[in-house]
Amino acid sequence: MLIVYVFQVVLFIYTDATKQSSKKQRLLIISLDGFRHDYLREHYLPTLNRFRNEGVRATHGMQPTYPTLTYPNHISIATGMYPEEHGIVHNSFYDRLLKLTIGMNNRDDGQWSDPKVEPIWITATKQKIKSAVLFWPACHNEFDGVRPLIYSWLYTDDIPFREKIDNAINYFRELPIQLVMLYHFEPDKQGHTYGPDSPKIYDTLLRLDFDIEYLLNKTKKELNDDLNIIILSDHGMGNVTGVIRPFFEKYLSPKSVETNLLSGALFNVMPKHGLTKKVYNKLINIPNVTVYRRNEIPERFHYSKPKHRLGEITVFPNFEGQILSRTTKKQIYNKKGNHGWDNTLATMQAIFMARGPSFNKNVSIHSLNNVDIYHIACHILKLNPNPHATAGSIVDLTSIFRTIETMTTSSSTFTSISSTITTFTTTMNNANCLYSIYVLIEKNIIIISSYRVLYPTVR
Ligand SMILES: [Zn+2]
Repeated sequence: MLIVYVFQVVLFIYTDATKQSSKKQRLLIISLDGFRHDYLREHYLPTLNRFRNEGVRATHGMQPTYPTLTYPNHISIATGMYPEEHGIVHNSFYDRLLKLTIGMNNRDDGQWSDPKVEPIWITATKQKIKSAVLFWPACHNEFDGVRPLIYSWLYTDDIPFREKIDNAINYFRELPIQLVMLYHFEPDKQGHTYGPDSPKIYDTLLRLDFDIEYLLNKTKKELNDDLNIIILSDHGMGNVTGVIRPFFEKYLSPKSVETNLLSGALFNVMPKHGLTKKVYNKLINIPNVTVYRRNEIPERFHYSKPKHRLGEITVFPNFEGQILSRTTKKQIYNKKGNHGWDNTLATMQAIFMARGPSFNKNVSIHSLNNVDIYHIACHILKLNPNPHATAGSIVDLTSIFRTIETMTTSSSTFTSISSTITTFTTTMNNANCLYSIYVLIEKNIIIISSYRVLYPTVR
């Protein structure tokens, strides 16, 4: 076995937690991709529904930002900003200033150089709160030169949800980490393949329900239930009912627009020089769509600002379920389910549920916006929010928080020690795995923990 190189060596002194005036809270945020709000009442999911009923529940779910896609929404959840502010306008898009196609796997290509954009793990790190971010989109990137203490190096679907849960609980138990964010790709994958109404979705949902039961048992046993947990999703899932192919159906010539365009639940193009009016007049002939110039897109979508990342013309389907495809050939569209449509549609609503020492028990709210999550996390971790994160707030959410006076005083498992922690992250080339190894020196006792973080696979 050969250790090929050491990625990072971090050495820091952890200050005595007993000096803090009030107890430090810890927060685990779990994102279950594509978990539609309706699934909770359409299917028998005993643990998730018990979790909601005992803690905070949003009876009408959580509203995503537009477009209701994975990358834009995970960054909105993390930053408290709309896509037009944080700049992630689609799952993959072209930046005309950087001359670069940006997707979830880009690494430090300058796409996060805007210091106004600050995910919660960066806000925490800047304010000396340690965090671990597992598989959350963009977690492996530097923001304004800052990274969280622990982050996954590359994205993969290969790690089982329970292994991610084990890692999260181990971090809380053995390290002075106060924020863990964990992403899991289901039930989105099954939703795309079979559609949201397929009985096959239920198998996946039930497995996730069992995994949450495993998490709750582990939290009780290993952390004395002293953990705030938010379970949420990025968007819902709808049935694909029709496919429009503007190029194949001859509404538009591919030669009249730049090759980098956005497609799916919307169709966004940059006409070639001098052709904007012509392209617009062609696209309005497509039945059952609304065509907007960039500065005419209704304000509620918050989808017109980043000129260097959006084309000048956007086509919105008038009906949910309609997909706009970029294909120039006759092709079968093989996804039964999709998302990306209007963020006010019932099928696009995401889940939100929370419980733990900072949250009130048995509280119902009608709904919230996913840009509020950043501020909920700041409130729990006692962080000063980024002043540019103005899209969300907790003004209407005060009922969900327990006041300090009524907070539990049960003994905390959060170690209050003065210790030196050294983190080594190494790769072992024959195992094709990336491990994090922690050496915790505490009162003359050395604890060495090793976690498999991920398999570096290229997607
Ligand atoms: Zn998603």
